[in-house]
Amino acid sequence: MKKCVVLGAGESGVGAALLANVQGYQVFVSDYSSIDVAHQQELKNANISFEEKGHTLDEIYTADIIVKSPGIPDHLPLIQSALEKEIEVISEIEFASRFCSTPIIAITGSNGKTTTTALTHHLFKGSGLTSKIGGNYGISFARLLVEKDVPDVYVLEISSFQLDGVVSFKPVVSMVLNISADHLDRYEYDIMKYAAAKMKITANQSSDNCFIYNANDDIIRTLLTKHPTAAKEIAVKDDTEILKTLDGSPIKHNNRLLQYAHNRFNAQCSIFSALTFGVKPEHIERQLNSFQGEAHRMEFVKQINEIEFINDSKATNVDAVIKAFESIEKPIIWLAGGTDKGNDYEELKELVKLKVKALLCVGVDNTALKDAFQDIVPELEETTKIEEAVQSAFRLADKGDMILLSPACASFDLFKNYKDRGDQFKSAVAKLN
Ligand code: ADP
Repeated sequence: MKKCVVLGAGESGVGAALLANVQGYQVFVSDYSSIDVAHQQELKNANISFEEKGHTLDEIYTADIIVKSPGIPDHLPLIQSALEKEIEVISEIEFASRFCSTPIIAITGSNGKTTTTALTHHLFKGSGLTSKIGGNYGISFARLLVEKDVPDVYVLEISSFQLDGVVSFKPVVSMVLNISADHLDRYEYDIMKYAAAKMKITANQSSDNCFIYNANDDIIRTLLTKHPTAAKEIAVKDDTEILKTLDGSPIKHNNRLLQYAHNRFNAQCSIFSALTFGVKPEHIERQLNSFQGEAHRMEFVKQINEIEFINDSKATNVDAVIKAFESIEKPIIWLAGGTDKGNDYEELKELVKLKVKALLCVGVDNTALKDAFQDIVPELEETTKIEEAVQSAFRLADKGDMILLSPACASFDLFKNYKDRGDQFKSAVAKLN
């Protein structure tokens, strides 16, 4: 019996362990920190042995294969020693794909993965083809493969960390939506290394597969020239006005979310992927109209006195904020701040000059935001309470303005996560009248 060691017992690791178990491996799960109670129970129910709060090296180095969770970087001594011992170390996505003969649509990029993955899955609903959604979105790919009913297609959101450990992963349709600075601490602060990880999504594709990518992204284009893909390339412009079929016929919709150019781009990528599977344009039009979007991404909260409140709490990097500003015609009262990941605000300055009436900094340390924008915006205030920021924004706003939470930063200084930040914003708006 072959032995599979799974490192890390989050959703990805537990999914891998369950799959390895049903595939007949002897499985051992090892997590450096504590494993939550629900995951422990799942492992116990499946008779999978595990350890927490440390690694027993003797157990790990007797593995035939190691599946590592996306949070574990390659440079760890544990991983390096395993490789020296010639133990194969792969990601959960790679491991799972070895047991999957169902077509996969795999979606990566710095921004827009969740939205595009959710929309692609939505386009299949009621189309006659069944799909299941997962990967970095909700249920891990490995866990999906343990389920009994097999769909016609898996729609997977894939992060760069998950792509680091792929070898033979071969989606029928792959997408790279864009590349902008994010997570660079894992890639020696070299954006090309981060980009190369994302481009691994197309590395094993063949001429009967499709690669959908952002035609305006210089980094993707550079990497494609250096390492051409065998897949059929579908380049999508990121300033797409009218959504189209593959032969250029217009696709109509009346979805509010698609007033934002970045969402139209995401939608065009989703549409092309669904069309390659034979989903009918009329069905796509219906599904576009019923797509609700994901919470915390340009989410409409409320309109009071013709002042619109939008929650874009998931905008945790500068590029997401740029895309939001580019699509908004109204004067903006901007709520931003949090844990700055070494942001470069230069690119935002022109847009802020043009569109932002007031900046409300919501963070413990707002130095970087203030340094970048205090001479540009007419009003700037600071607070550590989102409720106060919402009240100030409302006081400063006039009819026709938009109050936008689009922080450009992670949320961990003041909030549990971006959801908590967005929820607190929404509750504060609900208290206004
Ligand atoms: P991801 O899963 O890649 O983080 P999300 O769909 O969760 O992407 O969106 C994250 C943020 O990026 C949100 O603020 C959203 O409005 C913005 N966004 C969505 N699509 C794009 C895109 N194509 N380009 C840039 N920003 C985008």
